[in-house]
Amino acid sequence: MPIISNVTCPVCGSLCDDIEVLVENNKIVKVRNACGLGESKFLNYNRHHLRKPLIRKNGELVEASTEEAIRKSAEILADAAYPILYGWSCTSCEAIRVGLELAEEVGGVVDNTSTVCHGPSVLSIQDVGYSTCTLGQIRHRADLVIYWGSNPWSAHPRHIERYTAFTQGRFQASIWYRYLAHLSAYRARRRLMRALKLSSLSEALMPAEVEHGLPPTLFRKERKMIVVDVRRTRTADIADYFLQVEPNKDYEVLQALRALIRDEEIDMNKVAGIPVETLEELADIMIGCKFGVLFFGVGLTMSMGKLRNIDTAISMVRDLNRYTKFMIMPMRGHFNVTGANVVYTWQTGYPYAVDFSHGYPRYNPGETSVVDILTRGESDASLVVASDPVAHFPKAAAENLVRNPLIVIDPEPTATSLMADVVFPSAYVGIEAEGTAYRMDHVPLPLKKIVEPPSSCLSDTEILQRILAGVRKIRKEKAEAA
Ligand code: SF4
Repeated sequence: MPIISNVTCPVCGSLCDDIEVLVENNKIVKVRNACGLGESKFLNYNRHHLRKPLIRKNGELVEASTEEAIRKSAEILADAAYPILYGWSCTSCEAIRVGLELAEEVGGVVDNTSTVCHGPSVLSIQDVGYSTCTLGQIRHRADLVIYWGSNPWSAHPRHIERYTAFTQGRFQASIWYRYLAHLSAYRARRRLMRALKLSSLSEALMPAEVEHGLPPTLFRKERKMIVVDVRRTRTADIADYFLQVEPNKDYEVLQALRALIRDEEIDMNKVAGIPVETLEELADIMIGCKFGVLFFGVGLTMSMGKLRNIDTAISMVRDLNRYTKFMIMPMRGHFNVTGANVVYTWQTGYPYAVDFSHGYPRYNPGETSVVDILTRGESDASLVVASDPVAHFPKAAAENLVRNPLIVIDPEPTATSLMADVVFPSAYVGIEAEGTAYRMDHVPLPLKKIVEPPSSCLSDTEILQRILAGVRKIRKEKAEAA
């Protein structure tokens, strides 16, 4: 049975590239090293695979040939005055490059999913700049890891094990054993709480308030992990310390930490529900580490303050670099959302929300971002690649999306593909098609082709190339006829 090693997992922004896949008769039968999310995708991707192109006729989606679907899509895009091309975070860099060429050809707006996740982070990084590094450096050197507004235990399940606290770095030991002790203490505490609940002594013996004093483990020289969030998550359960912030108060806490790092006084007892003494100790721990890293998720990017939160977090890290080495990195979700930003920036100078309607790239998120264009009802056709905006966009935007001709390229049925006029069943990139993706730390990695796709499923790149050729042909014919 052939074993394919060093496979890159096409699920989350961690892009684990140590996966082993066993293939038998063009079927994946076993997966090693992946987390539950990754393993489930490799083993089950085929369950809901679309197999034939579909075109809407008389209100019904009916099977069509690839040529017919290409011709129809090219006609829709060539006839549109202001089409939008959206998605791009779950496909390869090669497909994104062709998508940008197509957007320029049809004078449309091309936008990726960072518009609704780390868009504010990107704006902030453009404004302020940031100090960052690779996940490899973090693995070997970081002695302080902070996750802020992010829950990697559930969303990036191998992130902690592969790159941060639980990994055995060259210069930093894993804190896995501490987690095991933590886990047995946690289980014992839960057993005790259950017993107390059943007894009449519960009121007297139950722990009352959440304490904010820092635990002694944080003052050790070894690697340590802190989680900052508005609620206790699975990641918070395994951290050395969990700092609970009141919802939408991250900005205040970050500004307070900045003041304390710069040795300024804070004339209050609490900030966002946290005693100032706790923040003072935390600032000392951050200053005292040898190599710290702050990972932030959409919990920070999309809470009140948005890009201003990230401005402040980056500025805090910049302040810390006056005393020690400190890095910051967004926790990117989709496996190639970083690649989408990178390829857009190479090709156009801008990372998302790029408008080609003037014949050159324009960028003004809020005006040229797809959600805003759809909400204002300005577009007249759409192409969606490997994304499901009908399920995730605001209602007004989704309604305008489906009102006009809609083309979808996706390996599986989605709410968006059910509303489309043309549907292309594409090959799963990273399983049935090869390509390149960028990890969250901007390291490019190859995506392998492990099995053959169904004969009617082309790669995203090939479908886009054929649509582009179709659009150019129609425009040439129109120009010659005029
Ligand atoms: Fe795949 Fe992400 Fe799990 Fe790694 S952590 S195996 S990339 S889903």
